[in-house]
Amino acid sequence: MNINDANGGFPILVAEDDPVARKILKRTLITEGHEVVSVENGRKAFDLFKERFFPIILTDWMMPEMNGLELCRAVRNHQTSGYVFVIILTSKDSKKDIVTGLTAGADDYVNKPFNPPELKARIKTCMRILELERSLKKANENIRILSITDPLTKCYNRGYIMDRLPQEINRAIRYERALSLVLCDIDHFKKVNDTYGHQAGDKVLIEFVYSIKQSIRQELDWIARYGGEEFLIVLPETGPEGALIMAERLRNTISKNKFIVHEKAFHITSSFGISGFDSASSDEIISSEVLINVADQHLYQCKLEGRNRVKAGFVNKDISLTFNDKRSITDE
Ligand code: GH3
Ligand code: MG
Ligand code: MG
Ligand code: MG
Repeated sequence: MNINDANGGFPILVAEDDPVARKILKRTLITEGHEVVSVENGRKAFDLFKERFFPIILTDWMMPEMNGLELCRAVRNHQTSGYVFVIILTSKDSKKDIVTGLTAGADDYVNKPFNPPELKARIKTCMRILELERSLKKANENIRILSITDPLTKCYNRGYIMDRLPQEINRAIRYERALSLVLCDIDHFKKVNDTYGHQAGDKVLIEFVYSIKQSIRQELDWIARYGGEEFLIVLPETGPEGALIMAERLRNTISKNKFIVHEKAFHITSSFGISGFDSASSDEIISSEVLINVADQHLYQCKLEGRNRVKAGFVNKDISLTFNDKRSITDE
């Protein structure tokens, strides 16, 4: 989330019951390039805050309906998408009052009547903290993405499968929807490495994933590297029959792709083992392991029968599907 605007200004919510002070506060902050929304009590400020996130709140202490301390506590108890820096304006300057304000959740305080250069300086401090928070969030997000991404092909990795697949299964079962897995393995890939070199092999893996990503539904389907030259495609809302047709299309596309390495052109083929269900009842135990195993068995069968083919099975029915020589679906 980008909390500040292109000019570096931040949205600031001001709560102050005195109209003159409110006006001066607003003007002071606007001249610093901030977007300021001002209201006359804590209640209005909190109602607004629940609808729109403000990274900075500048609040008076003594106000009708809801005072600054109550506003502070309400903001701290509210789930927010980022840190909210709260500055409390106070004419109370005894140490005890300051401690009370900070304990209620304020990050800083400014004495009233406020001194504009001091207020500006305090807002700058809070901007530094918010910028720091933003860069930490960005760094965390980058780490999260790295942790679920295969570094070579840039698709998801195996860790992501273990995390996401159970969620897909639960969702499909809960809403009685179909779900299929396609486990694909490049045929004789060792030969590609042996003949053209490991780098050529890497290039084939990258292009293999790219061409699959082009053919699946961007918003629903996803692909992850299961291991070496094996990839798992997850197709929500798709039963094994639909997955079989989709995988056959992939098989055909991939077999026609021309790879060129050191001016030598070659083709690869791949085999596809599918498992899934049209809909499953909630008392059927369908785990990621079972789904992957059934797909793996069908993949193994493809390899036994000569590779470059597609086979599908239901995880909860004793039905296997394949293409006959005319590439139309047959039950086995
Ligand atoms: P099959 O048709 O039975 O699947 O034969 P295969 O040669 O594809 O299978 P095998 O398991 O014998 O060999 C897989 C090869 O994939 C061996 C391994 O070196 C290679 N491989 C795994 N990961 C990578 C990678 O990241 N880059 C490259 N270039 N090769 C890889
Ligand atoms: Mg007041
Ligand atoms: Mg292979
Ligand atoms: Mg393999």
